[in-house]
Amino acid sequence: MSTISQNVDLLPYNTFKIRATARYFTSVSNVDDVKSIFDSELFQKHKHLIIGGGSNLLLTGDFNGLVIKNDIKGINVVQENEDTIMLKVGAGENWHKFVMYCVDRNYGGVENLSLIPGTIGAAPMQNIGAYGVEIKEVIHTVEAIEISTGDVRVFSNAECQFGYRESIFKHELKNKYFISSITLSLTKKNHRFNTTYGAITDVLKQNHNNEVSVKNISDAVVFIRKTKLPDPEVIGNAGSFFKNPSVEHSVFDRIKVDFPSVPSFPGENGLVKVPAGWLIEQCGWKGKTIENIGVHKHQALVLVNYGGGDGSKIWDLAMKIQSSVKEKFNITLHPEVNVI
Ligand SMILES: Cc1cc2nc3c(=O)[nH]c(=O)nc-3n(C[C@H](O)[C@H](O)[C@H](O)COP(=O)(O)OP(=O)(O)OC[C@H]3O[C@@H](n4cnc5c(N)ncnc54)[C@H](O)[C@@H]3O)c2cc1C
Repeated sequence: MSTISQNVDLLPYNTFKIRATARYFTSVSNVDDVKSIFDSELFQKHKHLIIGGGSNLLLTGDFNGLVIKNDIKGINVVQENEDTIMLKVGAGENWHKFVMYCVDRNYGGVENLSLIPGTIGAAPMQNIGAYGVEIKEVIHTVEAIEISTGDVRVFSNAECQFGYRESIFKHELKNKYFISSITLSLTKKNHRFNTTYGAITDVLKQNHNNEVSVKNISDAVVFIRKTKLPDPEVIGNAGSFFKNPSVEHSVFDRIKVDFPSVPSFPGENGLVKVPAGWLIEQCGWKGKTIENIGVHKHQALVLVNYGGGDGSKIWDLAMKIQSSVKEKFNITLHPEVNVI
């Protein structure tokens, strides 16, 4: 069974770089490790928290339970033909390294999702998405271990109930499964490129002579993301703190009267999606610093820890932002980050 350590500092395990102590901490590198942890008395007696790269977490205090770090590795070919390839990937593999593995082999499907931090296993949790692509478009199945029984279950794409930053694992099955691997279906030729979103087309034109390829799209996305988002290695953050809200057309039209330049894009179920960063900026939060935490100066959707920040203070700040957006626009922002 994996070693269990006590009183472990979680600062290296979360990209917000919050200092918090886990009463117990272990890492697991295979399915048997996971099952024996679930069977242990320590697990039964304490609450638990599964983590991957800690890039979608806000720790608001010490964790008085068992933190289980997922380190299940491996990339295996499950099926392959001339046109497509199916890969089964261990949930503890780093997401961006996996994207680079695909880019190097000209496997298409995940290039728009380059440079997203975190692990393979957390990616289906919130159906990671960027630049017009979501992981649900390439997920074939998700393998997960039921926490109460230790049984391994394979979820089809449909069973995962993916939505915008949503899946069944964040709702009905929240805290019920440990994701151990995912199987993705990728293209080897006749790739279905998506270059319509954000500045991809401009960067392809500027840097790649308009040549569209798996590698060039990935390079363009990496280039754009590096100019737009703070690097967690330099400034602690967890990416977008809130989800972009979807509103009824009547609500959007009302906002447009006072703010004719309000940006928008199509949301699910015929709703209109309004960028949360724009709403936060209109409330005057962009660049605000309170002691050693704040709102990023270039991207109002990203809350930051400049060093030594307290997770509970970041949460207080998030709640103040939520209230002011509600007051000004009558729109409720919902956190994308998992608050612990
Ligand atoms: C700079 C930056 C940019 C980002 N950009 C994007 C973006 O463009 N698009 C996007 O969608 N996200 C983005 N994110 C958010 C984050 O990278 C993703 O949500 C990522 O998938 C989180 O992976 P992780 O391994 O770090 O998860 P963690 O933060 O460790 O965990 C996230 C949640 O998943 C649960 N969990 C983790 N692993 C497992 C498992 N194996 N089984 C069951 N539950 C598990 C945890 O308990 C927690 O609730 C960004 C974050 C940062 C810091």
